[in-house]
Amino acid sequence: MTGGGRGDGWVLSRTPWAIAGASPAWAEFRAPASPAISSPALAWPPSSLAWLPVHPFAARGGCCPTIITRSQWGARAPRDRVQLSTPVPYVIIHHTAGSSCISQASCSQLVRGIQNYHMDSKGWADIGYNFLIGEDSRVYEGRGWSTMGAHAKNWNHKSLGFSFLGTFSSRVPSAAALNIAQDLIQCAVNRGSLSSSYTLKGHRNVNPTECPGNALYRDITQWPRFKAKP
Ligand SMILES: [Zn+2]
Repeated sequence: MTGGGRGDGWVLSRTPWAIAGASPAWAEFRAPASPAISSPALAWPPSSLAWLPVHPFAARGGCCPTIITRSQWGARAPRDRVQLSTPVPYVIIHHTAGSSCISQASCSQLVRGIQNYHMDSKGWADIGYNFLIGEDSRVYEGRGWSTMGAHAKNWNHKSLGFSFLGTFSSRVPSAAALNIAQDLIQCAVNRGSLSSSYTLKGHRNVNPTECPGNALYRDITQWPRFKAKP
């Protein structure tokens, strides 16, 4: 399991490790990317540090970025929920085509506005996306991992929809936001919400739309497992 998107050979441990006396944490070891690396003895940090495995941990967790929950951003309750049959085979990337944001307060405000727009103007049951990603380097919970979204017509039942907060026609999101999206995708695979043989697409690949913006679209064509067609 490689650290998504960094491309510098970091490997994330499959189990949380901690320095004795410190809080459990997911450890990254600089080593050749290989799923076989599971012990710090094989890699960094030096064995002089008392690194200890911490068990048990939530099954299939790990690599997951901090997610700002619905209650944290002040979501309204959904009108309805349809269960998503997981793991889904597709992840679809969007932009919100609105303002961008660089703080939890401003991103939360944008997410509330998007939810209002989707529920009140579009008449949907909830905010359309499964998750939103801000340039404040945070992930915001939309419909979440197990509720079918409303983000890509005819594809909602078989995909997760991740949307970058902002308009990315002429610029890409911050490097931090792009990295967090990679972490979120890896998290989705690890927790069994997204197939490990998933295909990544931009919204424009499945519906007639400019989304996720020309600049971001060009970027995602270079991401792992991107496929424009079919
Ligand atoms: Zn879209």
